[in-house]
This record gives sequence, structure tokens and C-alpha cells, in this order.
Amino acid sequence: MVERTLAIIKPDAVKKDVIGDIIGRYEKAGLRPIAMRMIRLSKDVAEGFYAVHRQRPFFGSLTTFMSSGPVVVLVLAGDDAIKRHRDLMGTTDPKKADPGTIRAVHGTNIEYNAVHGSDSPDTARFEISYFFPEMDLGVQ
Ligand code: ATP
Ligand code: MG
Repeated sequence: MVERTLAIIKPDAVKKDVIGDIIGRYEKAGLRPIAMRMIRLSKDVAEGFYAVHRQRPFFGSLTTFMSSGPVVVLVLAGDDAIKRHRDLMGTTDPKKADPGTIRAVHGTNIEYNAVHGSDSPDTARFEISYFFPEMDLGVQ
């Protein structure tokens, strides 16, 4: 089933000049960018995006990191896109991520882990509408 998912190339990856490499990996995997913006998140916008993590001990640090520099926000479309994107990213901690995954290649540590990806259809719907409110969410 064709799905849409939200990807973020985080500030650490933008600083490392690997935007092009990461988007190339999406395209090679059949995850086609259908919307894209490069923006600097305010602390407030980062907090709204990660609201589900508000109670976690790393919430303050995570939202400071995510607002520390520009990010690239994309909607990716493809068959089974949500899970396939998560597999391509690798697990949260780059040191534990499978070799060849984006986080294994470009991540630094469990916080500075290069990329974000929606983890379920409901999350994808919320996250896409958070950054692309004009998109037609009927087609998921
Ligand atoms: P993402 O939601 O960014 O795709 P994820 O689903 O693998 O990543 P979550 O558990 O949702 O991981 O955590 C969100 C983000 O918070 C992580 O990507 C990472 O940047 C940061 N994070 C997660 N766990 C920790 C931790 N223990 N310490 C510091 N930062 C963390
Ligand atoms: Mg997550």
C-alpha cells in the first residue's frame, strides 16, 4: 500500500553537509520526496512536534538540539513507506543501528542521530499536517 511518512534531516546532518547523500538514499530506496522545506525550528515548534515526549528526561535537550540550526523536512511517499523508512534509518542509537543504515553512517549518538521518521500511520498524519498543513491528507 502506498503510504506517506514524514522525514526530518536533523541539524547535525545538515551541518555535516550530507543532505544530498540522505535524500539520495531515500530515492534509491523508492521513497520519493513529494514535499520538502528547509527551515529553522523555533524551540516552541520543536516542543509542539515532540509533544509526546514532554515527560521524557531528554525533552529539553532534544528540543534545544532540534532548534539549534536548520533542518530539512520532507514528505516521502512509497509502498509501505513508514516501515521501510524506519528500516532505512536504523534504530535510535547509531551505535546499535545496523551497518549501512542512515543513522549508522551519519549519526553521532542517541540524540544527534541525523534523521527522524514517523513511526505509525497516525503519527505520520499528525507530523505531515504539522509541517505541511496545506497537503491533502486524504491520500495516506
Ligand atoms: P525519531 O522520533 O527522531 O524518528 P526514534 O523514534 O528512533 O526517533 P524516539 O524514542 O521517538 O526515537 O526519540 C525521539 C528522539 O529523541 C530521538 O530520535 C533522539 O534524537 C532523541 N532521544 C531518544 N532517546 C534519547 C535519549 N535516551 N537521550 C537523548 N536523546 C534521546
Ligand atoms: Mg520517534
